Amino acid sequence: MKERTLSIIKPDGVSRNLIGEVIRRIEGQDLKITAMKMILLSKEQAKGFYAVHKGKPFYESVTNFMSSGPCVVMTLEGEDAIKKYRKLMGATNYKDAEEGTIRREFATDIEKNIVHGSDSKETADFEIGYFFNNLEMMDR
Ligand code: GDP
Repeated sequence: MKERTLSIIKPDGVSRNLIGEVIRRIEGQDLKITAMKMILLSKEQAKGFYAVHKGKPFYESVTNFMSSGPCVVMTLEGEDAIKKYRKLMGATNYKDAEEGTIRREFATDIEKNIVHGSDSKETADFEIGYFFNNLEMMDR
């Protein structure tokens, strides 16, 4: 089924010049980028994005990290886009991620793991709406 998902190249990916590397892998999986921008999240905006994690021990830390520098946010479209992109990213903890995944190859700790991807259709709808309006998304 054709789906949309939200992808973020996190501040560590941007500062380490991995934007091109991540995009090359996305396009290599036949996922289409249908919206893209670079943004610097405020702490409040990062907290809103990760609101599902409110109360967890890493909430303060991950929202500090996500607001520490620019991110590249994109919507991706394609067959099974949500699962396909999660597979490309690898597990949250890079130590558990499969060989060849973005996180396994580039992440440096469980938090600084280079990329974000929506984990379900409901999450994707919320996350895409958090960053983009309809005018900013191409229909491809
Ligand atoms: P994801 O869907 O694979 O990104 O994982 P989660 O939704 O569970 O967590 C969101 C983000 O919070 C992760 O991508 C990490 O950047 C960070 N994170 C998750 N677990 C931990 C943890 O145990 N410690 C720290 N410091 N950060 C974490």
